[in-house]
Amino acid sequence: MVTTASRAIRRGAAQQQRIITAHGAWRRVVFAAECDPLGNCPVCGVDYAECPCPGPTMEEEFEYREMNGVLWARARPAGKQA
Ligand SMILES: [Zn+2]
Repeated sequence: MVTTASRAIRRGAAQQQRIITAHGAWRRVVFAAECDPLGNCPVCGVDYAECPCPGPTMEEEFEYREMNGVLWARARPAGKQA
């Protein structure tokens, strides 16, 4: 049996998901120094030059935010590039 309260919680989660999608999810910034000896990204395991993770110097594509000493980035909303 589904209660009204749990339905409201689920609806809230769906709204939050839409907001994240609209602005791009926060992703941890990967620095070249973090790569393994072969030059692969520690997050996705792909060659750092080809991996999709945000780097520390991509201000045109990403906005940055530091949380708990870790740098995060998210894609800027489409159409708002300076
Ligand atoms: Zn990566």
